[in-house]
Amino acid sequence: MKRGLPAGLLVLIFLVITTLTVFGQGQGVKNLVLMIGDGMGIQQVTAARVASQGADGSINVDRIKYTGFALTHSANNLITDSGAAGTALATGYKTNNGFIAISPNREKLKSILILAGELGKKVGIVTTTNLTDATPAAFGANNISRQNKAEIAADLLNKDIDLLLGGGLDTFGADLFTRQPKPDSLIKEAEKKGYTFIDTTAGLKNLATAERVLGLFNFGDLNYYDERFVFEPGLAEMTVQALRFLANEQGFFLLIEGGRIDDASHQNDPDKTIKETVEFDQAVGIVLDYAEKSGDTLVIVTADHQTGGFSLNGGLLDGQNLKIGWSTGGHSGSMVPVYAFGPGAINFTGTRHLSILSRLMAEQLGISEFPQLYR
Ligand SMILES: [Zn+2]
Repeated sequence: MKRGLPAGLLVLIFLVITTLTVFGQGQGVKNLVLMIGDGMGIQQVTAARVASQGADGSINVDRIKYTGFALTHSANNLITDSGAAGTALATGYKTNNGFIAISPNREKLKSILILAGELGKKVGIVTTTNLTDATPAAFGANNISRQNKAEIAADLLNKDIDLLLGGGLDTFGADLFTRQPKPDSLIKEAEKKGYTFIDTTAGLKNLATAERVLGLFNFGDLNYYDERFVFEPGLAEMTVQALRFLANEQGFFLLIEGGRIDDASHQNDPDKTIKETVEFDQAVGIVLDYAEKSGDTLVIVTADHQTGGFSLNGGLLDGQNLKIGWSTGGHSGSMVPVYAFGPGAINFTGTRHLSILSRLMAEQLGISEFPQLYR
């Protein structure tokens, strides 16, 4: 019997090992898009599919082959809030409810977005809520309380984030009537730091020459999907422009949040919850189209927690007359879905805590030290 492996096979094994080793040393995926449906549990996704496509139909997340689950509890509560959950997804740390990228020991944590920026990538945040809301805040600010909106807004502008799109005209200091920045406002300060300030859908379409962008399209959160003014862009539209703006040789990290699924579910409003989830899924479709073309973009779609104990209790197969039940006006402790598409996607299958997901993302990006404290 012949012993050992043929020489050709040995060379092949050597090449594969060398490639994997090089890949492991900081040469991670070029682009990473993290999409968070705030409060979007598996039943919200199910209802969005049934309502928009019928029970046998498919929506954009169904194009994603690798799936898993995420546990969402925080360091001090079985039921997480968006501060602790956002911190877990942004920094790899389990922390206390209400904290924004701060550890339970009150240390400042560096988010994956900030670290991707340090790798030379462009970084951006897109949300339908106020930019100072807990989820986006966890990626671009550090604060002991999610309630400190003014501090969070100022912090966001100090973190070299290339693109910020969402709500928050009031927090960043625009006049209530004219929508123009007040003299000593954070918007004026942002302009000094090289940000181009925009506040309309029309402005969003002309970003080509901007160095950095601060887009604030409503005073607090953006309106719900079917209640928006013409000057308020939808999540899909912001996603298209963000991908266009951030694409570059060094790659980018983009956080996209469907932020108002959570609010609609807190209100136990089935119609709004489903419409916000469908809109989020449209944005997923745009990102998947981009990732399919680019080939070097990892897309992670998940939620920070489930809101409302939403449950699909009845209705017709074509999506008519859906009967929705709720078990709470707050969050639930349920697992949430994880979808992964693109290079490295297979690593995101299985059941893990949100904080582990972000460690896996950091690994895929080639970030060598994660989690990481500010020193
Ligand atoms: Zn909530």
